[in-house]
Amino acid sequence: MNTTTLVDFPSHDPATGEVIARFRNSSKEEVDAAVSRARASTQAWQALGFNGRKKILVAWDAVLTKRLEELAALVARETGKPLSDATLEISLAIGHLDWAAKNASKYLSPVSRNPGLIMANMKARVERAPYGVVGVIGPWNYPVFTPMGSIAYSLAAGNTVVFKPSEYTPGVGEWLGETFAEVAPFPDIFQVVTGLASTGEALTSSQIDKIAFTGSTRTAKRVAAAAGERMIPTVLECGGKDPVIIDKDANIKKAAEFALWLAMSNAGQTCIGAERVYVHHEVADHFIREIGAMAAEIHPGVNKNYGPATMPSQLNIIQSHIDDAAAKGAKFLIGGTDSVQPPYVQPTIMLDVPEDSLAITDETFGPTLTINRVHDMDEAIRLANATKYGLGASVWSRRNGEKIASKLVTGMVSINSVIGFAGIATVPFGGVKDSGYGRIHGPEGLHEFTYLRSVVSERFALPIAFTTFKRTKFADRFITSVMKFLH
Ligand code: NAD
Repeated sequence: MNTTTLVDFPSHDPATGEVIARFRNSSKEEVDAAVSRARASTQAWQALGFNGRKKILVAWDAVLTKRLEELAALVARETGKPLSDATLEISLAIGHLDWAAKNASKYLSPVSRNPGLIMANMKARVERAPYGVVGVIGPWNYPVFTPMGSIAYSLAAGNTVVFKPSEYTPGVGEWLGETFAEVAPFPDIFQVVTGLASTGEALTSSQIDKIAFTGSTRTAKRVAAAAGERMIPTVLECGGKDPVIIDKDANIKKAAEFALWLAMSNAGQTCIGAERVYVHHEVADHFIREIGAMAAEIHPGVNKNYGPATMPSQLNIIQSHIDDAAAKGAKFLIGGTDSVQPPYVQPTIMLDVPEDSLAITDETFGPTLTINRVHDMDEAIRLANATKYGLGASVWSRRNGEKIASKLVTGMVSINSVIGFAGIATVPFGGVKDSGYGRIHGPEGLHEFTYLRSVVSERFALPIAFTTFKRTKFADRFITSVMKFLH
């Protein structure tokens, strides 16, 4: 379908398919105009300084907090997730916005550097300058929390932002734009352009100075290629295939309870959700018994444990992963090849799944989990790392958690807990390999939206000059002797 010619598009209630509202499919011209307006506002936004920007971002945070219930209802309606999950998601986003607003000055202010002995007559400092206009492209699974990791940190650093929300959650995107406008001292600091993939493409190829993309690895590669054409930097937050590793000394009941939630909540549509379990063979039966009993109590539906698949096309991928695992000999603890019952997917846990199955190699993004037994933790680590992804991981062990965690090729890891790193505003969020690069959140998330500028100046003139064609023989002899003395 050529999506560039459509004037508007609908958003749907994923549970019923009912149209909620229609939104503008922003054209290339409209995106370019938004980016130009953002550019025109950049200087004034930067001139407010850290304190001025903090006041506005904190005021926006207050609006989000005051109207949390209203935003949660909208998130629940557009994504299909339970209201309580939507509330939790927004609460995390509020925490990040507040942290970025209040800490930008601390982590982005200029720092002086030692010029060294040879250059002792100079003063040196490193500044962090905002890029200018940052384009943010978001997914639908956490339509507030996920883009906020780029929006809040970009704005706090002094950039203006043009945000293209997912076509599945345009209403949430617009709501964010409208509430920001209520507290903004002047227009175009944070703008939202709704639209389909073509709007995302237009934003990527517009005159933005940096792109922060969250979504699938497939789209991320296109975004990176387009950004490469213009030599603009990117942050790519992409898919995952996160492992849960369970050692024989783990608290099995707790590991089962948390792994189940991590796999099934939000209908499994979590980039850092559990998709694979590697459990020590000595405790595997115990773990499987516990998780099986708990999983039997979990049900999808309206106001149940989790909602429908937000994106109907994902159901085909989930079905293909289940079918492939079954054909390759996997056994089902819960669910089966009939688990996909549109628009819902019943909880599905597969045992002894061959490592070359799609359910092990590719992101399923559904309420499914594979459980494979391992002989020891070395095997668990090897299998956990044998993936093209490297986003998050969860490790369960009373004594060996740190050791196992240190050997995982992932951007984030939780020990005896799950996804704690998403809620702690001070730690960076992001992955390696096909899960992307760059970081949002924490000091590194603020750094991400600035470039480095080294500024040096003369404090006093030296009697001998080196950076001139008038350099003397004495200067040559002097530098040679000093280097021999020092090194
Ligand atoms: P997607 O790649 O289909 O779409 C993401 C966004 O990109 C949407 O706004 C879409 O309109 C836009 N887009 C599509 N084609 C484009 C193009 N050619 N150029 C520019 N923009 C384009 O992803 P999705 O289905 O919305 O999200 C699910 C994926 O996101 C999963 O893989 C999930 O793991 C990942 N995700 C990652 C994180 C993270 O932080 N690592 C967080 C949430 C989701």
